[in-house]
Amino acid sequence: MEKLYTGTNFLTEFRKRETIRNSITISIKYWSAFLAENDCAPAIAGGYGGNLSCRTQEGFFITAAGANLAELQDEQITHVRSFNLQMNKVIVDGVCLPSSESLLHGAIYEARPEINAIFHGHHSVSLSQSKALKIKVTANEAPYGSKELINEVLRILSDENFVIMKNHGFLSMGKTTDEAGEMVRKVRGLLRSGDG
Ligand SMILES: [Zn+2]
Repeated sequence: MEKLYTGTNFLTEFRKRETIRNSITISIKYWSAFLAENDCAPAIAGGYGGNLSCRTQEGFFITAAGANLAELQDEQITHVRSFNLQMNKVIVDGVCLPSSESLLHGAIYEARPEINAIFHGHHSVSLSQSKALKIKVTANEAPYGSKELINEVLRILSDENFVIMKNHGFLSMGKTTDEAGEMVRKVRGLLRSGDG
């Protein structure tokens, strides 16, 4: 569902204004381009859909709010050092505001210690397709960046590595960025060979 993108719903405190480039951010850029090429990061009013993150020792790297994944720049990857769901706040190193779904990514990392990469894309999977592929779908639609959306996802997350947020998009998870990305490739392939 195409929704107006109006920015992040939480407070961002910048600690260090720095651009980060290392093997993790290079991999995030690679898979960002992959999601864009596979129609998972469409333009929406006010920005672009989709965001990718990878756990670090202290927090996680995540793509910037509203970033165009097709041409992600180094400064559009922000390091979320810590976050607080109750206070609705993140503390970051970086240049750009982190993805509006930063708290969702953080909540999943908290719930799933074995998961180190989370990719969120916008691609429509019909209810019949998700059933055929045994993909769990959240029970209720919830606004992007909302606590309701986090709760809806946590309710079905269990040990799934690919779930659908109803009328919104998917979350692909893995121990590594490559695992999360290959999962997207696999599901996209299954959709292509299925009923479209
Ligand atoms: Zn989204």
